[in-house]
Amino acid sequence: MTTTYSSRIYNRRRSRRRIVLAISAAVFGVAVIAGAVVVVPMLLPPGPRPLFQMPVGCGETWQLGTYPSHGSYEVDFFPLRGEPWGQPILASYAGTVTVSGINGSLGGRTPKNPNGPRGRGGGYWVKIDHGGKWETQYLHMLEPPLVRVGQRVAQGQQLGRIGSTGNSGAPHLHYEQRRGWEKVETWFDGKPSGITTDDKEYTVKLKSKNCGEDPS
Ligand SMILES: [Zn+2]
Repeated sequence: MTTTYSSRIYNRRRSRRRIVLAISAAVFGVAVIAGAVVVVPMLLPPGPRPLFQMPVGCGETWQLGTYPSHGSYEVDFFPLRGEPWGQPILASYAGTVTVSGINGSLGGRTPKNPNGPRGRGGGYWVKIDHGGKWETQYLHMLEPPLVRVGQRVAQGQQLGRIGSTGNSGAPHLHYEQRRGWEKVETWFDGKPSGITTDDKEYTVKLKSKNCGEDPS
């Protein structure tokens, strides 16, 4: 049996087409798996609310508040005792650090120059992923945070110190809890803080029970 020139060309083309098809199928398969890995977790409902504690020292009473144009559910923490500058900021719950750096610009408000130029945004800040789509964030820190991205932190672990970097009028901690990338009302020790809309000025005094790792 002899093979004509044209049939050899035909066979070569057919095998090339088969290789192209196989590669296309492989690329498509990888894309589907990668898509599923990224998209499926986004579609899953958030997990149960972690037992968050106040992001400040155990047994201390702080004033929590909001004011018009602050942002719904956003909480500003001011200590009722002592100089706010430098007081420890603690993790509300165990998790993994996803952001540790500068949001906006730092400005120039320091303990020595409290009325220095205001910065923009959150200044030195930290964001923690607690799993189940729950996150907390901590803004306006005095100095670069004490934790780095990817680091696992325990409940009550110090993240940084109270400052006034970014768009901040006076030294305080700006704090948020998020579920599925949406801000929600902050809860501490299993109870809602009552800080919801920023329609009017509202403050509440609460005692921190951030006294160590949640055993659950
Ligand atoms: Zn704030």
